Amino acid sequence: MDSLSAVRRLLILFGDQLDEAYLDQAGLDRQVDAVALCEVVEESTHVFSHVQRTVLFLSAMRHFASLLTEHGWRVHYVRLDGQENSQSLDTEIGRITGELRPAELVFVHPGEWRVLDMVTAAARRTGVPFSVRIDSHFTSSLQWFDDWASTRRQLRMEHFYRERRRDLHVLVDAKNRPIGGKWNLDSENRRSFRSEPHAPEVPRFAPDSVTLETIEAVRESLPQLPGRLESFNWPVTRGEALLALGDFVDNRLSLFGDYQDAMWSGQDTLYHSVLSSSLNLKLLRPGEVVEAAVRAFEVGSAPLNAVEGFVRQIVGWREYIRGVYWNSGRGYGARNALNAEGSLPWFYWNGETDMECMREALRSVLEHSYGHHIARLMVTGNLGLIAGIRPSEVADWYLGMYVDGVEWATLPNVLGMALYADGGILASKPYAASGNYINRMSNYCRTCRYDVKDRTGERACPFNTLYWDFMMRHQERFMRNPRMALAARAVDKLSKSEREEIPRLARALKDTWGVSR
Ligand code: SF4
Repeated sequence: MDSLSAVRRLLILFGDQLDEAYLDQAGLDRQVDAVALCEVVEESTHVFSHVQRTVLFLSAMRHFASLLTEHGWRVHYVRLDGQENSQSLDTEIGRITGELRPAELVFVHPGEWRVLDMVTAAARRTGVPFSVRIDSHFTSSLQWFDDWASTRRQLRMEHFYRERRRDLHVLVDAKNRPIGGKWNLDSENRRSFRSEPHAPEVPRFAPDSVTLETIEAVRESLPQLPGRLESFNWPVTRGEALLALGDFVDNRLSLFGDYQDAMWSGQDTLYHSVLSSSLNLKLLRPGEVVEAAVRAFEVGSAPLNAVEGFVRQIVGWREYIRGVYWNSGRGYGARNALNAEGSLPWFYWNGETDMECMREALRSVLEHSYGHHIARLMVTGNLGLIAGIRPSEVADWYLGMYVDGVEWATLPNVLGMALYADGGILASKPYAASGNYINRMSNYCRTCRYDVKDRTGERACPFNTLYWDFMMRHQERFMRNPRMALAARAVDKLSKSEREEIPRLARALKDTWGVSR
């Protein structure tokens, strides 16, 4: 656009706000208003970001900017290699405002406290009147969540979810009762595979010229980013994201429920939707995603346990954790209820470990910047919990290394759900598990050098050793939690020699992994 002509209203959008609907909601007029987007190095380095995550954000932004231009919008785009780019949103907001001289600045509520504070401060410094609009992408507003939370002693997802289902009239009958009689069919969704599964592959989105150019720019400006790029296969436009949604509903949704907690070597996506990056970048809207799944149930192509499980993820869990993130305030990320102070094991960065389950989970992350929810929770997250790794380090790793990483989603999932670091705001108990769980839900233990039946000795499964070490360290606390008391009492059944050997073995493992004391 002509940078010399002043604009009336300037909407500055971020890399996870790629929905044209925001322009209408901000009341923009093609004749006098403009949109700005900035690529800055700082957003890929404030936590170390997987190279695929960075390429996805930037390529999707470039495609989105082209689309807006095609649709007649005036777009000001700051490229990563732009000569004047100061590489920080903080300073770019001031620079762009100086260049375009808008009478008014508009933002959509960002997805992170850090960015909200930065934007507010930077906008204030410009002296130009500004507003931060609510993010209309979500089916529930933050105000709705705060009102709901103010009437609750505990913020349990199940209660939030039921109210949202009723409000949105999703999978309910005329009297607002759940279709099928039950709100939650999770107990039907815990099957594992007896033999190698043959889940349909996710569709391929070969990098186009824009993505290839983005890859070159990222290689040039950010050569140090972790992860591999060769398998890049993410939807970078709304059109591609809609194709991915249709493919999931047609080919994988029907078995998504049954096998949502299962894992298998070399099969990273199984029956999962793999839509979280498209949703979090706002290429897809939650309403249309839920509608597509419910339609599949209504025409009989997907069973209720699959569709309910998926709906629960979208209008339940996803919006609930966003509410918890903002409702808990800026201090949420610093919580560390279990006083976990260990540093992140080095193999989280290179995948070089002899634990088969961790090797598989980390391979998927390093190769594809992806892991499905049970690998995130019960393998990489569980190890962080039982090994006593500092929550902020684990949360930063998750935020940067997964392609769908945005803080409102990542922080409560990691800190609250996986690590119990918020002391029970989000989860009623820690999701700590020994190797038994992994053995039940996967084939990993069959080829592992460790023995999943052992908790002491040379071949003891590290998940067993660390689980019992964790339970011994926190036994007193967990005895006071009704949902943990039984597991905590089991510590008393350990033999004297096990009580001596387990902490020693756990420390030796952590020393080998470079975990500081
Ligand atoms: Fe993981 Fe233990 Fe099983 Fe090995 S034996 S794959 S370390 S759970």
